[in-house]
Amino acid sequence: MSWTYGCPHCNAVLNPDETVTLVAHCGSMRFLIGFHPQPGNYTIYLPSGIDLDSGSVFVFLCPICQTNLTAGGNNNLSTLDVWQGHTRRKILFSNIAGEHATYVVKDSGVEAKHGTDSSQYNGKI
Ligand SMILES: [Zn+2]
Repeated sequence: MSWTYGCPHCNAVLNPDETVTLVAHCGSMRFLIGFHPQPGNYTIYLPSGIDLDSGSVFVFLCPICQTNLTAGGNNNLSTLDVWQGHTRRKILFSNIAGEHATYVVKDSGVEAKHGTDSSQYNGKI
């Protein structure tokens, strides 16, 4: 079933097409970034001329309401709502370029984790 991503602040759907689109902010850079909607697929889509330096820490913002998506309690993770049919979960993902750590979270706790760096935040979600 497909994944529909929503802003936890304004409820805007963030992947009206395939790609999950957010505003990325790092130092003086600010641009739109696209993520693959499948958790654990780290394909990203960048504007031409933008390169990500591994290890750079980004702040991601909702492109609609501009709210900072940083997860409460952990500055290195951002959070979005994600829907599959009527089931709502949260997704947390790393703000650090090149760090592959993604968590699918239900009320009961972490349901799935993805990425080679996902042990990084064990016990911190
Ligand atoms: Zn929003």
